[in-house]
Amino acid sequence: MSYKFFENRTCEFYPCHKTERINCLFCFCPLYKMECGGNFELILGKDGKEIKDCSNCIVPHSEKGYEYVIEKLKAAQTESKG
Ligand code: SF4
Repeated sequence: MSYKFFENRTCEFYPCHKTERINCLFCFCPLYKMECGGNFELILGKDGKEIKDCSNCIVPHSEKGYEYVIEKLKAAQTESKG
């Protein structure tokens, strides 16, 4: 366990993905609103707009999920400064 990876096996939703180890740090993915590079499907939400279904994505929950997410956020910040 570290600040980059922890697994909460006592969570009522555990295991929320089909993988051996789950990093729970990014339970809600910080990349949801951006081009994430993850394994999502677009589905229609209740309001008829497309939303991401991230059920099959383990990118933020993987062993290197912390590094991946931080790099993506840094890149997005650099792009926005243009
Ligand atoms: S969970 Fe995966 S597919 Fe969903 S926003 Fe995050 S990286 Fe993208």
